[in-house]
Amino acid sequence: MKIIGLPALVGTYDNYIWVLYQDAKAWVVDPGESQQVIDFLKQHNLALQGILVTHHHFDHVDGIPALKQAYPNATVFGGKKTNNACIQIHLSDGDEVELVNGFTLNVLETPGHTPDHISYYNEHALFCADALFTAGCGRLLGGTIEEFSQSLIKLRNLPEHTPFYCAHEYTKDNVNFAIQVEPNNSDLQQRLASLTIHYPAIKTQPLGTLKQEKQTNPFLRFDLPDIKTQLLKRGANDNIASLFKTLRAWKDQYDQQS
Ligand SMILES: [Zn+2]
Repeated sequence: MKIIGLPALVGTYDNYIWVLYQDAKAWVVDPGESQQVIDFLKQHNLALQGILVTHHHFDHVDGIPALKQAYPNATVFGGKKTNNACIQIHLSDGDEVELVNGFTLNVLETPGHTPDHISYYNEHALFCADALFTAGCGRLLGGTIEEFSQSLIKLRNLPEHTPFYCAHEYTKDNVNFAIQVEPNNSDLQQRLASLTIHYPAIKTQPLGTLKQEKQTNPFLRFDLPDIKTQLLKRGANDNIASLFKTLRAWKDQYDQQS
């Protein structure tokens, strides 16, 4: 299975629409737009089989009607709580979506960014949309602190070698924040030094691995001693939800200043 990322909503939300394809068949994750997807499918003689939705936000679903018009046989999958009239099959934690024989994606409920957010994963790919970003995580837009912190821990517990595909290109900003949180993290220093972003070029590689995120993403590290000490000083209590809440608030404050 090949996986590439098409840029979408460039300059505003800087999304990736991930396209998976094999043997003239294709699937897309979170099409917030449609034209670049249709162009890519035509160029490569691919027939769209399915659309995988992670949550209801417009920058993840607005391309669906035009894609359905161009490919009426494509099936639209989404979470059981996702309110979108295009969704034909509603998924829950533990469900599976078989794309082709030998490539099945598992469904993981990852609420927090929104209450309906789900992720799709197998050993070859994790599509975690706005739950977990490169060196960051999504904002709290409707979910609770408790569920978001637990979702991040669920994602952290997936196998480390899992290639990682999120829905936005926010790496630079996230790494700049992360280094403020953990200035002495040598993995993070290295990530910052070697950071090159080619967005909005088509992405032909994963954004990284979960291992790299576990080493450098503060939102997978907020309960480790170095970060925890900082968060306790900023008023957090010593529990997962409070530590996450304090780190998320710190990032929100940083975003407002930058
Ligand atoms: Zn979102």
